[in-house]
Amino acid sequence: MLQNNYDVVVIGGGAGGVAAAIGAAQAGKKALLVERSSYLGGQATHCSIPTYDGFFTRHENSEQIAGGVASMVMEKLKQYRGCGEPLRSPWGNVMFPVNNEMTKIVLEELVMQSGAHLLLNSQLCDVVRNGNTIKSITLLTDGDKVQITAQAFVDASGDGNLVYLSGAEHTSPDVENLQFGSLLTRFGGVASEADVSPAALRAAIAQGKAAGITPLSKDSGFAMRIVGTEDVIAILCNEKVNPLDADSMTQGQIRARKQAMAYLDTFKRFLPGFEQAYVINTGPHIGIRESRHAVGEYALTGDDVVNAATVDDAIARGCWPIERHTSANKMQVYTWIKDDGYYEIPLRSLKSINIDNLWLAGRIISCDSEAFASVRVMGTAFLTGHAAGIAASMKNTSTENDIAAIQCELKRQGALI
Ligand SMILES: Cc1cc2nc3c(=O)[nH]c(=O)nc-3n(C[C@H](O)[C@H](O)[C@H](O)COP(=O)(O)OP(=O)(O)OC[C@H]3O[C@@H](n4cnc5c(N)ncnc54)[C@H](O)[C@@H]3O)c2cc1C
Repeated sequence: MLQNNYDVVVIGGGAGGVAAAIGAAQAGKKALLVERSSYLGGQATHCSIPTYDGFFTRHENSEQIAGGVASMVMEKLKQYRGCGEPLRSPWGNVMFPVNNEMTKIVLEELVMQSGAHLLLNSQLCDVVRNGNTIKSITLLTDGDKVQITAQAFVDASGDGNLVYLSGAEHTSPDVENLQFGSLLTRFGGVASEADVSPAALRAAIAQGKAAGITPLSKDSGFAMRIVGTEDVIAILCNEKVNPLDADSMTQGQIRARKQAMAYLDTFKRFLPGFEQAYVINTGPHIGIRESRHAVGEYALTGDDVVNAATVDDAIARGCWPIERHTSANKMQVYTWIKDDGYYEIPLRSLKSINIDNLWLAGRIISCDSEAFASVRVMGTAFLTGHAAGIAASMKNTSTENDIAAIQCELKRQGALI
């Protein structure tokens, strides 16, 4: 049953939040995980993203760098046949393909097994502070507003909503320079031999554009079969939206759905094997790559990422290259990590600079926009979330901010650091 006081409250049930809640609960603390949707997974499930990235290095002898909660998720997905074997993208990155529906089930089972309390359908809407400390949060549910106190809080909301409402330092989105959002589209009725490589998509879209089909944004993109099905999921419909402005989101999502229908028309006419294709679903939510950036004690930099930096207070590893989506019609641009290895993420990047009981998890951690384009992937979000949950669980104990104790608990819980 929901209580009104916890050791650790985590806002947001994506990869970062799930791992934070499990980490805190496995450390023996009373943890609450709050999610405004009716299921877990964050963008993996709201936006139908088909692969977890950041689990394996790109090196030719690829190494798994994601342990702890991330490997618990992997193992359970395997047990439930909710994933495929790791595979290389057309750019050589190693991805872990997942089935989004099984992901919902696996994540909620793992959270419940950890002993954390899961509260869905509840949205953070207010925060009360006492000096530099968050005292309580208020959740909006369909029934009522609910106030909850805790020793420590983790913002895993992706958009930095707890950061914002608590007055924690952050930067607001610079919409013109934000990475594009993309609405994913799932196609059924595709022949099993259809080629969905970037080159095949490019050739079909060029013909669609030449034939005057509109609106189409990307000239090519990434598409793959969804684990356990013949359906194809494609990342094509780019839109520049302000993720914090509902009106901008509304217009962007309407335009993106029109794009999805235009891509269907294009592929039915110009992509062999798509003659009988139809749209199974879009989104449901447009995928948002970038939003607020929280300011922590240390902002991880693009140089740290590409130079495979090591740090004394490492609590996680990142191995996804810097991947930027800054053009409406072009493919993403990569900057590779030295030797296709991994960099270390310091605890300082997970600690709000001005709120002393607030930790950051997932794509909200403190970094510059280059590093952000690497740390935002879900494999890395599981890892930073796991560490944030454990660090938060030590608030007001003798090991508070004790990096050796935090690293020790992470290792005890299976993390690879
Ligand atoms: C188009 C696109 C394609 C991508 N492809 C990949 C890919 O292939 N592989 C990969 O690993 N990554 C991919 N990413 C990146 C990745 O999906 C995100 O960066 C990642 O989901 C971040 O995880 P997170 O836990 O920080 O946040 P999110 O997944 O965004 O989860 C945040 C959660 O917080 C909840 N929330 C927000 N505000 C509140 C509130 N006020 N109260 C309660 N709950 C709240 C949200 O509902 C959400 O469930 C892609 C992103 C996009 C946009």
